[in-house]
Amino acid sequence: AVEIRGLHKLYGSLHVLQDVNLVVSPGEVVCLIGPSGSGKSTLLRCINHLEKIQGGVIRVDGALVGYRRAGDDLIETTPRQTRQARRHIGMVFQQFNLFGHLTVLQNLIEAPVHVQRTPRAEAIERAREMLGRVGLADKHAEYPAQLSGGQQQRVAIARALCMRPKLMLFDEPTSALDPELVGEVLDVLRDLAANEMTMIVVTHEIGFARQVADSVVFMDQGRVVEHGPAARVLDSPRQDRTRRFLERVG
Ligand code: ATP
Ligand code: MG
Repeated sequence: AVEIRGLHKLYGSLHVLQDVNLVVSPGEVVCLIGPSGSGKSTLLRCINHLEKIQGGVIRVDGALVGYRRAGDDLIETTPRQTRQARRHIGMVFQQFNLFGHLTVLQNLIEAPVHVQRTPRAEAIERAREMLGRVGLADKHAEYPAQLSGGQQQRVAIARALCMRPKLMLFDEPTSALDPELVGEVLDVLRDLAANEMTMIVVTHEIGFARQVADSVVFMDQGRVVEHGPAARVLDSPRQDRTRRFLERVG
């Protein structure tokens, strides 16, 4: 579960997230939508402490990520403690970020072996299982450059799954793909959702959000403008700003 209370994020004097509150239950799929620059990526990056926050508190499964409490203050933890705290949060970006000089299998076992200290044989077994799950069992020996964009993104998802995440964060996972490759990646997300993965998905795929999301968050100018059951927000938004956005993208 994720609990965000009173979150503020500033870049210098630019107030990018303003009093964001959001609770995500275990097994829930939340789609995050909103115009460019509204703070969607920044919100994801704050959750696993790729960004410092200037106010509020974020807990993942009850624990702070990147901070510890000292009286009333939050103090950043050491890089090692931060890595440890974020080890069960998987993140997948628009750009696949695979290691080009490693094979698919090597990409998948890299973090389990070197960060989690998983025995190599066990990491390989898990990697093969996750590759099967994303439909790429036969691609273990290929290099990323030999794969299509959709395949590369599925490898990136499998790689995140190898860390046994309790929470998956997706930042526009299909935006860099040719239209005909979008479906195969969304199918993998659908499968994760059906298997009770807790997920926050930034997406412009409104159809996907309607089908798969339990709830939808609409952000604008650093604020959560509307949050509710997917069908309610997407089909009968209460806020004008949400309605206008949906008219533009839907
Ligand atoms: P998009 O849909 O285009 O991906 P977004 O909703 O993900 O947009 P963010 O990337 O979170 O938006 O950006 C929110 C605001 O923060 C924007 O005004 C952006 O210019 C600003 N911003 C993001 N990253 C930085 C940074 N590292 N330094 C300064 N400003 C930043
Ligand atoms: Mg973004």
